[in-house]
Amino acid sequence: MVKFHDIDLKIENDIQVKKDDALIVVDMQYDFLSGGSLAVEGGNLIIDGINDLIDIFGDGIVVLSQDWHPQDHLSFASNHSGKNPGDEFSSKDGAIGPILWPDHCIQNTHGARFHENLNTKLIKKVIQKGTNPKIDSYSAFLENDKKTETGLKDYLNSNNIKKIYISGLALDYCCYNTAMDGLDFGYKTYFIIDLTRGVDLPPGNIVNSLKNMINKGINFAIKNSFNFK
Ligand SMILES: [Zn+2]
Repeated sequence: MVKFHDIDLKIENDIQVKKDDALIVVDMQYDFLSGGSLAVEGGNLIIDGINDLIDIFGDGIVVLSQDWHPQDHLSFASNHSGKNPGDEFSSKDGAIGPILWPDHCIQNTHGARFHENLNTKLIKKVIQKGTNPKIDSYSAFLENDKKTETGLKDYLNSNNIKKIYISGLALDYCCYNTAMDGLDFGYKTYFIIDLTRGVDLPPGNIVNSLKNMINKGINFAIKNSFNFK
């Protein structure tokens, strides 16, 4: 057990990475890291640990997701008159919301790049998401319309992946939605709790996300759950 935001999480131990396992690293991009427009507190502190896990996976399946928005993306408060980042906003179809964000991860800008310290040398697959200006995409599997697939499921299935491990940013948005969809798609899903950080917007969102994941049957691990031998 570990205590995280006052919630007891049952932690898996002694995980051996196998051929049908995949590591999903969510949105480790400059805009979500220190100095970025949507910096997640403590985000930089998880880079080294994620690199350690990438090492364990070696030439196995590691997927990076990348938030990749056009400038006119409707998740940006700047594209709604009179709105500020953090304001509540939901489009009727649920494709945008529940809140608006500052401009972030605009295609081909510095903020959209992966952090230079993230070890991307062996990465075979990057899944870009949020490219449609009218649809946000928190999950690395499905855009927020819950219909449009990003290609992650097909990629994992073509590699016979059965189990996924989620790390990255932010805990209560993109990691959370990736984990929930991953379980729905039939993967045994692990959330690596010390290799993620949350935004907690609105306040309480991290705890709610954790409770929902526990209730749904998502498993939890920490970096040291993995067998580094
Ligand atoms: Zn975004």
